[in-house]
Amino acid sequence: MPFQTLRGTTDLLAHDLTSWRRLESSALQIAQRYGYQELRTPVMEDAALFLRSVGETTDIVQKEMFRFTDRGGHDIVLRPEGTAPVVRAYLQHHLHKTEGFAKLFYLGPMFRAERPQAGRLRQFHQFGAEAIGSVSPWVDVEIITLCVHTLLESGVADATVWLASMGCRDDQARGAQHLKDRLAPHRATLCEDCQNRFDRNIFRVLDCKQPGCHALAQDAVNSLERQPGLPPTPFALCEACVAHFDTVRHGLNTAGIAFDDAHVFARGLDYYTRTVFEVRSPRLGAQDAVAAGGRYDHLVEEFGGPSLGACGFAAGIERVLLAARPVDPVPVATARAGVYVAIPPKSNVMSEAFRLAQRLRQQGTRTTMDYDGRSLKAQFREADQLHCQVVAILGEQEVNAGSVTMKDLAGGEQRTLPLDDFMKAVAA
Ligand code: ATP
Ligand code: MG
Repeated sequence: MPFQTLRGTTDLLAHDLTSWRRLESSALQIAQRYGYQELRTPVMEDAALFLRSVGETTDIVQKEMFRFTDRGGHDIVLRPEGTAPVVRAYLQHHLHKTEGFAKLFYLGPMFRAERPQAGRLRQFHQFGAEAIGSVSPWVDVEIITLCVHTLLESGVADATVWLASMGCRDDQARGAQHLKDRLAPHRATLCEDCQNRFDRNIFRVLDCKQPGCHALAQDAVNSLERQPGLPPTPFALCEACVAHFDTVRHGLNTAGIAFDDAHVFARGLDYYTRTVFEVRSPRLGAQDAVAAGGRYDHLVEEFGGPSLGACGFAAGIERVLLAARPVDPVPVATARAGVYVAIPPKSNVMSEAFRLAQRLRQQGTRTTMDYDGRSLKAQFREADQLHCQVVAILGEQEVNAGSVTMKDLAGGEQRTLPLDDFMKAVAA
């Protein structure tokens, strides 16, 4: 075949779309139940939007963006994630003035130039939610609860929530220094990427997929002084951040959301502060993250807005569908429905037949017809394959008499009816 989908992109056929539509509509409905309103943003954005938010030194910006210059010389990106566009829209439409606290839900394609493999695509799809305009830790609890609720409802039953706090910007600066001191003697054994990360953003070593780097980072963290009452963390949390984290953990217990805070991890985007989380599923193998998110208390301000806290999550639709326990196969539609308008060959009634099909469709009856002058036998065969309930035969005789001959494919009986009676009979 001369034309194929690009690497890392896929077609979705009717068969795939059954589970996609089910997931999409249930994600939206659940988000609405929590008070989130849908927002759709363009797939193209100004490149600077992501450089400033996701961060210049992140993998996404350095290696994964589909970035091009348009004819007018604008630096454009196919969006790699949804948070920065939502915050841009929040400010552009003055929601900080009209609504203050805004809760927004989005769903759509995202683009990252990654090496395609199972669960990792170049065009993938996310749904997510952002709660913008509050620093309350209960917002973090709501976001994580909404995320887990949606995943459970979608059939992802055995996922684990990893929870951590990355602290505020001051904590991050102190934590980075601690980690650098511990890792400095091993700098030469880190992978090339991590050697760069060492100076630019040391926490990203924790996110490295190379086992050697990960183990070194883990050892370095374990050797740091533990803060009493807190899980191991490379971030030296201040009192306010400890209190925030405590309330989030307490809130999740209250909501009955199980979580695991024993892992040391950092999220690979620059904008996160305080709460971060990842939802992992054992069914996914190497690409085990189904959803992820956290708090970002400086992004609104960095985009020129007021100083407002915010928190959000994003889930990958392809991975949710891979991680979901297989749902019962969609039952093959055995019940017959709809009409097949059949034209006896050589009858000159195409206009009348098309008009009949159109009347049926307008009254809400699913209708198909033949356009190729095939034999009645072929038309009946197709009607049967399409699980139609009725074949409406419209020949010259019927047209002249203002009638339709209808054959019930389930019962088998055939009768000729005046047109109006036929319309009523199939509408029932
Ligand atoms: P990973 O560690 O797997 O690369 P990530 O940290 O880059 O994930 P996020 O930016 O947090 O991912 O995006 C949230 C979710 O979007 C992920 O948990 C995953 O389900 C999904 N996702 C991210 N990148 C891809 C991709 N290339 N293909 C399919 N799904 C993806
Ligand atoms: Mg990634």
